[in-house]
Amino acid sequence: MRPEDILALTPAGVCCKRGSFHIDPTRPVERALITHAHSDHARAGHGAVLATPETLDLMRLRYGENFAGTAQAIRYGESVRLDGVTVTFHPAGHVLGSAQIAVEADGLRIVASGDYKTVSDPTCVPFALVPCDVFITEATFALPVFRHGDPNGEVAKLLESVALFPERAHLVGAYSLGKAQRVIALLRQAGYQSPIYLHGAMENITRYYESRGISLGELRLVRGADKAALAGAITLCPPSALNDLWTRRFPDPVTAFASGWMRVRARARQQGVALPLVISDHADWDGLTATVAATGASEIWVTHGQEDALVHWCATRALKARPLDIVGYGEEDENGEAEE
Ligand SMILES: [Zn+2]
Ligand SMILES: [Zn+2]
Repeated sequence: MRPEDILALTPAGVCCKRGSFHIDPTRPVERALITHAHSDHARAGHGAVLATPETLDLMRLRYGENFAGTAQAIRYGESVRLDGVTVTFHPAGHVLGSAQIAVEADGLRIVASGDYKTVSDPTCVPFALVPCDVFITEATFALPVFRHGDPNGEVAKLLESVALFPERAHLVGAYSLGKAQRVIALLRQAGYQSPIYLHGAMENITRYYESRGISLGELRLVRGADKAALAGAITLCPPSALNDLWTRRFPDPVTAFASGWMRVRARARQQGVALPLVISDHADWDGLTATVAATGASEIWVTHGQEDALVHWCATRALKARPLDIVGYGEEDENGEAEE
């Protein structure tokens, strides 16, 4: 039995022929197993979807009740048999409800990790290391230049700026699903207790996080707030809103952006970001390489992003590795935002 007999690449993404399912397909399929609710992984229109309860709820919030023909929830640690193949979902530490999917047949275990990070995040269950024969890893930040550092230090920078410029608004661009809630939780952890303002596009998802027991303190909507109240306050918005007329309602705003890409200063400058915050929901170079090694896998398949560097690193460790060229991951969603 070769791993390719269990999982193979098709135009719609990774497919298990024997179990009649795809993992995070980029086109509509009969049966989809979904790692997490980011729109490049979780698309609407599949016949049947198997995912964690949180991922299903978030898909419902995004796409409406009829996002799939049928939906089945599976919890972390739970296994399901699909035509002789066993699948088990494990925490991926990426966003609320995110999972790695272990696929087992004939004594061979392949783990499709979706997107993941191994550093702590107060808004989701920590990454679980799953020993396996083949590990499918993302490679969004798979270059040695990407070292995300301590997110608490980044949040401290934001709070210093707020203290320094109490008459100015602070606008923080953050992806609406996961990053925004994590930034709020980190601010609360740092002892920041003032109300935090939200762009309307983030309201539903943030309320959903709260309904799952993640306390985010006092949140207010920008809509309806007066300009004076926004001075000295922190507001979170989708990154696309940072360069929008929408920002005119804020008094002399300082623009910040929470993203792994903010490690690249030129990129921050290009986007007109005064306060780059290196906060990422993906593993950095050290996280990726440490995880790949720790799984004990002898074969690594690398998806979306900078595949080459990670494939090369694997070769230097005598690990068999190959890129999986799947078109569609890391793509922008309906709001023109790519999650990072
Ligand atoms: Zn993601
Ligand atoms: Zn992704």
